[in-house]
Amino acid sequence: MDNILKQTVEILRKSNYTIAFTGAGISVESGIPPFRGEHGLWNKYNPEVLDLGYYLDHAEECWVYIREIFYDFFADAHPNPAHLVLAEMEQKGLLKSVITQNIDNLHIEAGNKVVHEFHGNSKKLKCLKCGKVYAANEFDFKNIPPRCKIDNEILKPDFIFFGEGIPANAYSNSFADAEKAEVCIIIGSTGEVTPASYVPRTAKQAGATIIEINPEESSFTHAVTDIHLKGKASEIMTKLAKELF
Ligand code: NAD
Repeated sequence: MDNILKQTVEILRKSNYTIAFTGAGISVESGIPPFRGEHGLWNKYNPEVLDLGYYLDHAEECWVYIREIFYDFFADAHPNPAHLVLAEMEQKGLLKSVITQNIDNLHIEAGNKVVHEFHGNSKKLKCLKCGKVYAANEFDFKNIPPRCKIDNEILKPDFIFFGEGIPANAYSNSFADAEKAEVCIIIGSTGEVTPASYVPRTAKQAGATIIEINPEESSFTHAVTDIHLKGKASEIMTKLAKELF
């Protein structure tokens, strides 16, 4: 592993355009479970509550689960060393952007400035009628559903539900960065969610070296990955930081 780490550090030092592509796995050590797998959220909850069609007809019912998953459960999560190393890489000019599938805001809390939130952000709530966006912490969630202060409509978390499109800016910025990338670091993603999983694949096609950090193999591992650093995100990123900074 030491040799592979050293090789990775050399690649990162030489790169003029490194991007990170992150999934639920990077936040596991912050206490947020992934959706799938043994401790995945979908073992406990019905994904229907995040289906746009179902939500539009049953918003009050869905909010009971949405509050529990995203505003009780996630509320105490803080960035872990993997998020913090990515922020330091950006500060030191070693990382251009983070493209994240996560909706937990932890990259921004860690200090990254250029974050393309492919699936939106749970820390914002949006009125589907007038379009006003609120910070989620303006609401105490004791009374649900939260309502728009202008027109009293039920607010929707500003992350994408099943059946919704990717936010246009995040989409175009992510693929533009993938085209330019010399290195793409994939952290904690199965690569099973499209179109997000096309981002590292686009980087690979454009000539980028793909470094993957994941304790397991993913659908990227045998398709696009050049170097698989097998292990938990915070452990690997801490080791990388020691060599890199
Ligand atoms: P996923 O749930 O499909 O897979 C998680 C991946 O992380 C797996 O490959 C697993 O092996 C790996 N992993 C587990 N522990 C890890 C660790 N400590 N370090 C590194 N990797 C680890 O995740 P996905 O590919 O991101 O797709 C799930 C979808 O669900 C995404 O669209 C995402 O938006 C959403 N989601 C987000 C959050 C969040 O915001 N934190 C949480 C759950 C799901």
